[in-house]
Amino acid sequence: VKAPRIMTEHSSILSTPYTSLLRRYLFPLRKRVFVLAAVLFLGIGLQLIHPQIVREFIDTALEAGAAGKLIGLAVLFLVLGLLNQVISALTTYLGADVGWLSTNALREDIADHCLRLDMSFHNKRTPGSMIERIDGDITALSNFFSQFLIRIVGNGLLTLGVLVLLYRENAWVGMALALFTVISILFLLRCRRLAIPATIEQREASSTFFGFMEEMLTGVEDIRANAGGRYVMSNFLRGNHRFFHSSRKSWMLRSSIWLLLLLTFSLADVLAISMGIVLYNRDIITIGTVFMFFHYTEMLRHPIGQLTLQLQNLQNAGASIERATSLLAMKKDLPEKKTGRIPNGPIAVTFEDVNFHYGDGNPVLHEVSLKLSPGNVLGLLGRTGSGKTTISRLLFRFYDVTTGAILLNGMDVRHVPLDELRSRIGVVTQDVQLFDGSIRENLTFFDKGIPDKQLLGIIDTLGLSPLLSRWPEGLDSRIQSGGKGLSAGEAQLLAFVRVFLKNPDLLILDEPSACLDPATEKMIQQAWALLLKNRTGIVIAHRPSTISLANEILILEDGRVKEQGAREHLATDPHSRFSELLSTGFSGVTS
Ligand code: ATP
Ligand code: MG
Repeated sequence: VKAPRIMTEHSSILSTPYTSLLRRYLFPLRKRVFVLAAVLFLGIGLQLIHPQIVREFIDTALEAGAAGKLIGLAVLFLVLGLLNQVISALTTYLGADVGWLSTNALREDIADHCLRLDMSFHNKRTPGSMIERIDGDITALSNFFSQFLIRIVGNGLLTLGVLVLLYRENAWVGMALALFTVISILFLLRCRRLAIPATIEQREASSTFFGFMEEMLTGVEDIRANAGGRYVMSNFLRGNHRFFHSSRKSWMLRSSIWLLLLLTFSLADVLAISMGIVLYNRDIITIGTVFMFFHYTEMLRHPIGQLTLQLQNLQNAGASIERATSLLAMKKDLPEKKTGRIPNGPIAVTFEDVNFHYGDGNPVLHEVSLKLSPGNVLGLLGRTGSGKTTISRLLFRFYDVTTGAILLNGMDVRHVPLDELRSRIGVVTQDVQLFDGSIRENLTFFDKGIPDKQLLGIIDTLGLSPLLSRWPEGLDSRIQSGGKGLSAGEAQLLAFVRVFLKNPDLLILDEPSACLDPATEKMIQQAWALLLKNRTGIVIAHRPSTISLANEILILEDGRVKEQGAREHLATDPHSRFSELLSTGFSGVTS
């Protein structure tokens, strides 16, 4: 499978996604990796010495050797055993340390990269699948980073060390066990491969199940209101059933492999002991050596199990690496030409024959042209789905126009750096997002540099103090995530303070279609008028009272400009669509 490359500046034969990821994320940790490798090799050395001491001990004991030598050997055995434990704890600690540090850096890079990608990227993916990609995949990689090379090299060396020592002791035993090692590794790799589809199925079942749960928990209010509980429960049980059965299957397959490993090694033990007994009977080796053969054979079990496991992990890591690198290689669709600047002061907005469709290809805007002079306020009317919110998204450059152009003070938005563009435009959306945090944090977007005095001043100016006094703890009151616990009107009022702090030169207000009580509506109207002072504004209006803020009117129908002109003029023209709407109280246009 061809995986996309990252970091093309160093492309060479070694520039596979594996090596480039290792180089990029392990190189900064090289000191720790060295220590880890050193500790690991020390551990291997100690393990290889162990059986030699045991042989020495048995042979000395059988020959009725000196008690002092036996005690010395026993103490050495104990000390080395203890040291081995310490080293193995240290290896685990260092391995986890390296694994977490390197994958956290990768997680950070991927999250940062995804946050910078266009809206069209985010619209295609659910939060659940993004979490699975950024966290699930990278966790799967953690073993690859911290262990893979070291374990492969370490266990390879251990196996080789054991075989060499056996060969030195007796060539036949060494060769027999070497042959056995090769055959058992090939055999185990084959068996492990059988378990892979089950593991993939388990992961899929789990991500489908949790994706479903996420969606249902988000929509719990609507589900209850529409009596959808039975449907959700039956789907929950079905998903859980699949998750359980696939997990059980993959677990059973994986355990069978351990059983196979045990079985294979019983064969190896039989082989080693029989050869040992034959050689002992011919007086070629001592009984201590027979025991040592047995001990070394037992020692092969762990590295062979590890080697095959790591090779299997490499396959798992391959899928994750591919997804991670393809995510990192993903480019923004919106090219940035960072040359232009929008001249200061209120902004003139021009649409020149704008056509637009979202990714699905259905046209949303047709030949939309409009001109809004600095300091004026445009009232944007149109049925639900006529493309009003789309116009505000285009101004922000969440998407680029398909054909035509949008100019701000004569400057094409595609020529202005995104940061600059977005700092000059403010928006209050139909559906305001609030975050888990205090009211203060939600107003300032977690910017601690903004003093309470300034915040309270703005709240007072906008006439929102009565709203704040509803919360006993004032600015410190906590908002639950997603703005639960606030009404749609209250959330919008908070968004006004946000945008007032930002002080943009062009302000877009997308009126919520939810009904507001007369008192809140009055508060909102006053706040809007204040917000629009000395700025260019676009007001997407759903009710007649809001439209009084505008001095220009544009009516959209199915993405086409139906009517456009000065409000006063259109209101007095009895044949205009606008005056028709006014007389029906907007009943034909509101959503
Ligand atoms: P409302 O008055 O209900 O807010 P609107 O005029 O703001 O409606 P838009 O949100 O601009 O309507 O949507 C215009 C059309 O574009 C609709 O037909 C909608 O289905 C479609 N649309 C909106 N967002 C997307 C998207 N992200 N991907 C594809 N199509 C979209
Ligand atoms: Mg809308």
